[in-house]
Amino acid sequence: MKKSYPTRMCITCRSRHPQHTLIRLQQKDSEVTVFEGMGRSFYLCNTCVDDEKKIKGLSKRLKQDFEQFTQFLGKFRDGQ
Ligand SMILES: [Zn+2]
Repeated sequence: MKKSYPTRMCITCRSRHPQHTLIRLQQKDSEVTVFEGMGRSFYLCNTCVDDEKKIKGLSKRLKQDFEQFTQFLGKFRDGQ
């Protein structure tokens, strides 16, 4: 029997993935941080976190400094 997982949509590519494979973030004041259990959150998939173009677009959309945002997301990348 196939197990079903709750799915969530990636904010960047808008495709649905099992929730546990996604990175959950939130924007607190103006800073993007790891979701801490309160407030609005959004999800980012493992493919997008490695995609510089998408991260660039997202950093603009969230009004983040691209360099800082990339550095912050670096810890979610595979092999780091
Ligand atoms: Zn994605």
